[in-house]
Amino acid sequence: MAKTILFQHNTLASLMAGIYEGTMSVEELLKHGNFGVGTVDSVDGELIVLDGKVYQATGTNDEFKVKEVPSHVLVPYAAVVHHTTTKSWKEDNPIDSENLKKTIEEKLDSHNLFYSVKIKGTFSKMHVRMIPKSKTGERFAEVAKNQPEFTQENISGTLIGIWTPELFHGVSVAGFHLHFLADDLHFGGHVMDFVMQDGNIEIGRIDQLEQNFPVDNKTFLEKSFDVLALRSDIEASE
Ligand SMILES: [Zn+2]
Repeated sequence: MAKTILFQHNTLASLMAGIYEGTMSVEELLKHGNFGVGTVDSVDGELIVLDGKVYQATGTNDEFKVKEVPSHVLVPYAAVVHHTTTKSWKEDNPIDSENLKKTIEEKLDSHNLFYSVKIKGTFSKMHVRMIPKSKTGERFAEVAKNQPEFTQENISGTLIGIWTPELFHGVSVAGFHLHFLADDLHFGGHVMDFVMQDGNIEIGRIDQLEQNFPVDNKTFLEKSFDVLALRSDIEASE
């Protein structure tokens, strides 16, 4: 069987350090996966990759918006994979995000591997944030203090995410990193919490991690990173 490769451009820790310049085009990103999460140049909202299409969810002035991202747009950070289901099941009873996460973690073969997580369902509550557009240099944890958050009720859609083992916290966020996209493509974002009425859960075990770097980005090349501070920033804002 072909190996499932999680492709990551830059790391979550460098995003936390305030490196927001887009360094890879959406066109290039899609060569490595049709499913995933990330953000857009200048951290202008949340990036959602589903079925080979790329969306940007933004929230400004109490209004939220989702639009498709043209292929020339650059991203500072993203993780994509060709999602391949290795385990799936249905949840028929209402379950909140904390309990669903626990249920999923109990079903993972091992907690030392990455997984893609795809959940198609109906949600009585979906609470998301969209990171507001910011300038390189402002720490992400500071930017996130003013993040717009929105909640929708009775909405159907897909959760798109990656589960990261503890060992790779910093490269990515340990545990779940979930984004949401509504079926009608009008609402989406980085998931804070939710209540699912019913849904279908697909877990895809990852065989390999391909870590790509912004080799031409001067800010990244010259940055000195405080890794411990960045790891706690990820816990606070992701
Ligand atoms: Zn996110």
